[in-house]
Amino acid sequence: MNIDDLLNDPIQYVKKTAQSCGRNVVAFFPVGVPIELIHAANLQQFPLIIMSEDFSAADAYMHTFACSLSRSVLQKFLSGDLDFVKAFIIPDICDSLWSLYNIVKLTDPNRKLYLFHYPPKKDDKSLNYFKGEIIKLWEFLKELSLSQSSEEILKDSITKFNEQRKLLRKLNNMRKSNSPPFSGTDFFKLMLAAFFMPVEHHIDMLNSILGNIEKWGTKKEGVRLLVSGHMVENVALIELIEESGGLIVADDMDIGSRHFSQDLAVRKDIFAGIAEHYLMTPSPYRHSVEDRAEYILKLAKEFDASGVIFLIRKFCDPYLFDYPILRRMLEEEGIPSLLLEYEFPFSAAILRNRVEAFIEMLR
Ligand code: SF4
Repeated sequence: MNIDDLLNDPIQYVKKTAQSCGRNVVAFFPVGVPIELIHAANLQQFPLIIMSEDFSAADAYMHTFACSLSRSVLQKFLSGDLDFVKAFIIPDICDSLWSLYNIVKLTDPNRKLYLFHYPPKKDDKSLNYFKGEIIKLWEFLKELSLSQSSEEILKDSITKFNEQRKLLRKLNNMRKSNSPPFSGTDFFKLMLAAFFMPVEHHIDMLNSILGNIEKWGTKKEGVRLLVSGHMVENVALIELIEESGGLIVADDMDIGSRHFSQDLAVRKDIFAGIAEHYLMTPSPYRHSVEDRAEYILKLAKEFDASGVIFLIRKFCDPYLFDYPILRRMLEEEGIPSLLLEYEFPFSAAILRNRVEAFIEMLR
């Protein structure tokens, strides 16, 4: 299956892969849930980056002012599309996901659910607390596994994901060039695939792309942009930005540089190393807005971005709270930004007008 087929029907892809590998499926939100643990427990990961255009079942339980991502997942869950999922890991990063967790628990009390809690700080106490959470999650995952797991296997999984990170950084660094060999849309598709595909397959794909880089992707010209946000389940939104005259050269996203910017160091205390890693990269769920601003500014300078587009989903409090401060901090550094509030399904004409106007201003 190629990437486009995977992205057209991610649920089918996960089902087939799990079947062929003989694994149970664990669904999770890729916002700092250690994917290495799922891999080491020999489970098939299912990132909940899915969309629905029908919310009829979800609307009976969840407010329409919850975000479209949580409503989509609930819709798919209630309509039976996710019956093959053995367990869900839901992080407590926002009210929408809290609500999703409670509704899943209420409507299907037998479904295995894990509420993953992040500390709001990065100090020693928080790190220690988070390490405890990671150990609890590891025990939960081991119970779902159909094979034996161990800390040695976990070390191997970390090594594999670090290999994937290294290759992604190598590709990402090519975007620093004046004329990158591929578009932001190409890279974004590859990032989505990174979360769906077994890491071994993704590494093979990255090696083959790097070995034939001139034959991969579409070279594109445009105004250099950095996008900042959470995750985007529909490539059409990224394509729209590039069709409007932009060239995305860098990102501050969960489905992006937050995943690969740094390796996960294998420490003697393996769980302490995992906790440290997942608390390190700035995100709105567990960092100060100053940390985020510093990260975005550094990226914008390194990748020579002329402007920043904040891709923020409607009703997404964690990102909307940070936005005004980030915009001001970028302004102080002379970097213009645009807030592109969206939800799926979205109105392409309205978003296109806004992006085109922003890009015109940057030219
Ligand atoms: S988009 Fe925002 S509100 Fe929705 S699940 Fe993600 S963090 Fe929560």
